[in-house]
Amino acid sequence: MTPDQRTAAYAEAAKEFNRRAGRDTGSSVAEQFDRRLTLLQDLLYCRLHGDVQEVVGKDSMLMPVSELKTQLAAKTEMAIFEVAESRSAADELGIDTRPDDWFARWLARILLGAAVEAGALARLAEYEDQAPRERLLAFTDVLARVLPESRRAPLVLFNLFPLSVRIAASIALGDRVRAAAVRNEQLEMQPALGDCTVCRGQLLTTGKQCPECGNPVWKFNWLVAD
Ligand SMILES: [Zn+2]
Repeated sequence: MTPDQRTAAYAEAAKEFNRRAGRDTGSSVAEQFDRRLTLLQDLLYCRLHGDVQEVVGKDSMLMPVSELKTQLAAKTEMAIFEVAESRSAADELGIDTRPDDWFARWLARILLGAAVEAGALARLAEYEDQAPRERLLAFTDVLARVLPESRRAPLVLFNLFPLSVRIAASIALGDRVRAAAVRNEQLEMQPALGDCTVCRGQLLTTGKQCPECGNPVWKFNWLVAD
């Protein structure tokens, strides 16, 4: 998408959000969701694939077509999972996401473009019926098919990921108190994340990541530490 197309897409998304959710913050909500969730996709892909490839791939200036296809497929699956997790977070924050499943379709269009494929909508419907744990297991299964090396990632990376999505959703929807509470859940899950001398495990501003530990999708060495 060009910057102009993106601005137009946000304006369109903002109108629909305001109408459906009865708010007037739609343009910042749409932009925050897009920027934060896209960053989480980029970072998770990097952790699962890029970090592993770093040793072999540095000399190659051109990414092979097969790798681009894998990346697109993996990030599409991540986006679908993010939509499902965000829908659940939005429900908890008092937004009625159900009529026509509008919220999921709205966010899917922001993340995946105007023409969301039938396969993505079917997966979203499956996720909707699942409890959080079941949904996460289904996501890791799908991801392992697209990106087999994801099986080598520490389990805690996957346990932290839905919470990072919920933080992004809470901030996008203007509830920083809820976002901070979810970050505390992550710190309880993996106390070492609070030891980073650069970010101290704090919430970061939109578009930022911690160069030291990787917050909000942590580097492996921070996940296997005691
Ligand atoms: Zn850090």
